[in-house]
Amino acid sequence: MLPFAFKKLIYYGYKKGMMRMFGCVFCQIAAREKPSTILYEDEQCIVFQDVNPKAPVHVLVVPRKHIPSLNENMPQDNALLGHLLAVAAHMAKEKGIEGTGYRIVINTNAEAGQTVFHLHLHVMGGRIMRWPPG
Ligand code: AMP
Ligand code: ZN
Repeated sequence: MLPFAFKKLIYYGYKKGMMRMFGCVFCQIAAREKPSTILYEDEQCIVFQDVNPKAPVHVLVVPRKHIPSLNENMPQDNALLGHLLAVAAHMAKEKGIEGTGYRIVINTNAEAGQTVFHLHLHVMGGRIMRWPPG
């Protein structure tokens, strides 16, 4: 359990959009403190290879800002969310799967299968995707 003052500090930083979360694996990758196969980056986001791919193409589009899940996004994040989608579509083109098709997934919370609590878009393709997903 974090002390109240520390929580307030984190919340303040989060509102200011400058937060990174200590111990968060995706914050560490974005800060180049943890190795990953980075495919694209800009001032707002980073894209890297999923370490345990579930499809021939499986990349993660991750905002630099630590937003735990889609539930915590704020009105000031709207442009960022749009940018993440645009980057996801760009990556699908880069990987050559825009014509055959691809799926963008945002798992949100436990029952949806979210395991890393730093918002991310899965971009998956290169095989036939079933519907509905399991
Ligand atoms: P989710 O289950 O939706 O939270 O997705 C988390 C994804 O992050 C999974 O597909 C993991 O394989 C992937 N992942 C976890 N740790 C790493 C890492 N260090 N580098 C790359 N991908 C990772
Ligand atoms: Zn993070």
